[in-house]
Amino acid sequence: KLSMRLERVAIHIPKGSILADIGSDHAYLPCYAVTNGLCDSAIAGEVVEGPYQSARKQVALTGLGDKIEVRKGDGLEVLKPDEATCITIAGMGGTLISSILESGKAKLGKAERLILQPNVGAANVRSWLIENGWELCGEEILEEDGKIYEILIAKKGDPLRPYGVNKQTGLTFGPFLREQFSDIFIKKWQLEKKHFERIIEQLDESGRSGLETKRNELKSQISVIEEVLKG
Ligand code: SAM
Repeated sequence: KLSMRLERVAIHIPKGSILADIGSDHAYLPCYAVTNGLCDSAIAGEVVEGPYQSARKQVALTGLGDKIEVRKGDGLEVLKPDEATCITIAGMGGTLISSILESGKAKLGKAERLILQPNVGAANVRSWLIENGWELCGEEILEEDGKIYEILIAKKGDPLRPYGVNKQTGLTFGPFLREQFSDIFIKKWQLEKKHFERIIEQLDESGRSGLETKRNELKSQISVIEEVLKG
């Protein structure tokens, strides 16, 4: 059975897409998407030999070899320039996701939708989208096995549209997630706030001097979180 996290990624694949799932590991996502008619065909990209072999095995096992091609390579380099119409990149840090998109820009010619699921550092992905003409058109936050995940969905469009006046807050919290103000969103930012408070305590306990700038930075991050958590 597919994880809820990947199921929520899959739900945003437009029908009839040619999907590229980059960093596919077991290729669970493309197998699920093709099996359930969410897309017609898919490419699973993997850069590491072990996961690449796992993907090949899984595709063979599900008998989807004629619909899913497993390719070995770094990021989007496994794609032809005008190949995929929907690209999913899930289960990695936001910085890695952004760098995969940045170095693979030339392969995004036909892409109409990006579905990105950063484990951490979602702000980094939002920035990349803004700088590259992608409009965030939806976001999800969910909790599974004690971890909180964010999913960002983007299309070509006006990248600043969702942000309104306070772009910086939008980048950090996610304009849609902030608007939805779900219990999991609240939980995530309460935990972040606690985390920052603990760091401040540790700074204070260390008794070292010259930590004032760091301390003030954390303090201001905490007050931004408090402001957002007021709803
Ligand atoms: N996408 C799957 C998921 O969400 O469950 C697998 C996530 S797994 C934690 C991350 C995978 O990305 C690993 O299998 C890793 O080998 C692969 N990966 C990391 N950097 C990559 C890159 N530059 N190009 C292709 N795959 C990459």
